[in-house]
Amino acid sequence: MRDFSKSIAAYKEAKPLMPGGVNSPVRSFPSVDLDPIYMDHGKGSKVYDLDGNEYIDYVLSWGPLILGHADEKVVEFIKKTAEKGTSFGSPHVLETKLAQLVIERVPSIEKIRMVNSGTEATMSAIRLARGYTGRDKILKFEGSYHGSADSLLIKAGSGVATLGLPDSPGVPAELAKDTLTVPYNDADSVAEVFKQVGHDIACVIVEPVAGNMGVVPPIPGFLESLRKITKEYGALLIFDEVMTGFRVGYHCAQGYYNVTPDLTTLGKVIGGGLPVGAYGGKNEIMSQVAPEGPVYQAGTLSGNPLAMAAGYMTLSQLTPKDYVAFRVKADRLAEGYKEAAERYGIPLAVNQAGAMMGFFFTDQKVINYKRSKSSNLDHFKKYFAAMIEQGISLPPSQFEGLFLSTKHSMEDIEKTIHAAENAFRKIAES
Ligand code: PMP
Repeated sequence: MRDFSKSIAAYKEAKPLMPGGVNSPVRSFPSVDLDPIYMDHGKGSKVYDLDGNEYIDYVLSWGPLILGHADEKVVEFIKKTAEKGTSFGSPHVLETKLAQLVIERVPSIEKIRMVNSGTEATMSAIRLARGYTGRDKILKFEGSYHGSADSLLIKAGSGVATLGLPDSPGVPAELAKDTLTVPYNDADSVAEVFKQVGHDIACVIVEPVAGNMGVVPPIPGFLESLRKITKEYGALLIFDEVMTGFRVGYHCAQGYYNVTPDLTTLGKVIGGGLPVGAYGGKNEIMSQVAPEGPVYQAGTLSGNPLAMAAGYMTLSQLTPKDYVAFRVKADRLAEGYKEAAERYGIPLAVNQAGAMMGFFFTDQKVINYKRSKSSNLDHFKKYFAAMIEQGISLPPSQFEGLFLSTKHSMEDIEKTIHAAENAFRKIAES
């Protein structure tokens, strides 16, 4: 048995000081009946906890670390930048450098605004869509999570799904009524809503691959149908690529699926592990943002030099070849898991998109939140605990995806499959 005594002691100290002892709910392991593990350091595909236990890491800080932990060039560039000062509140050339890279690679983005988190990015994009169209209603999908802004905490996934909170107290009912929700991958329901109130809808916001109900890719034609209907009704289409951006493909999910939205939100990978978000899109729409236009949005630390340095050095090291390699690793992981599950008679559905993967303990094909909730959560708890014991760090919730980095080796993948096989055997025997 692994020793977690230092993590347990650290949690005991933190618990009275912060809600749940943490600064983001899912970190407290609310759905796996375990104390959270305190990580101390990481290198490449591995993380090490306070007690010195080593793990192959598929959390990767919930997505940002596509080059793995403590990439040498990223760390070096952050250090070099920090030595010159950490923040100025003036424009900085690194903001332009990161903006250039993102605009070059993301088909929908002609102009971009950097912010500090994914939440800020989606919240600001929604305000812009409302300001630009002069409409108030927005349409999102059940089980999709777009950050913790009020308008978006309606039928959300991720930690909200984990905690079983369909809505959050504190979100004004007046605001919630303007957020319409339909099942993911259900173009007919979208069409029905548009038929009823289409001319009041400012935007449809969608994760082009859903990543907060587990990983659920779009079925063929779904994203195209959103593009078509939003155009028809003069609503904007927002792709929330906070999770999928530079993870599903070199040109993000929009490049991979070849559907171009009006606005895109980004976060995670573009900050290389530092706090960054961004929203961008067509020049005509983005020029409505202050100071060019009347839609106000600002930030003391937005475009922070250290965050720009980490993002720039992360994106500039990624190549299209990396996405081919992700595919090979994800395919092998999927195949290994499926074989192991079959051997022990465990129902398992596997979804994948680029460097994101999702496993569900169900015999249903998972195409929406309802199906994702059919996963056997008791199996998940046992699987999670068995994997931790064997040195595999996974997101501690059924409703989160696994992430790969360029540093994950085929040896890591084989070790993970072997561990999963042991976990499935334990579940079968229990
Ligand atoms: N959108 C999506 C699709 C996300 O997955 C997340 C976070 N997991 C967010 C928005 C919010 O980003 P942040 O946690 O940086 O505020």
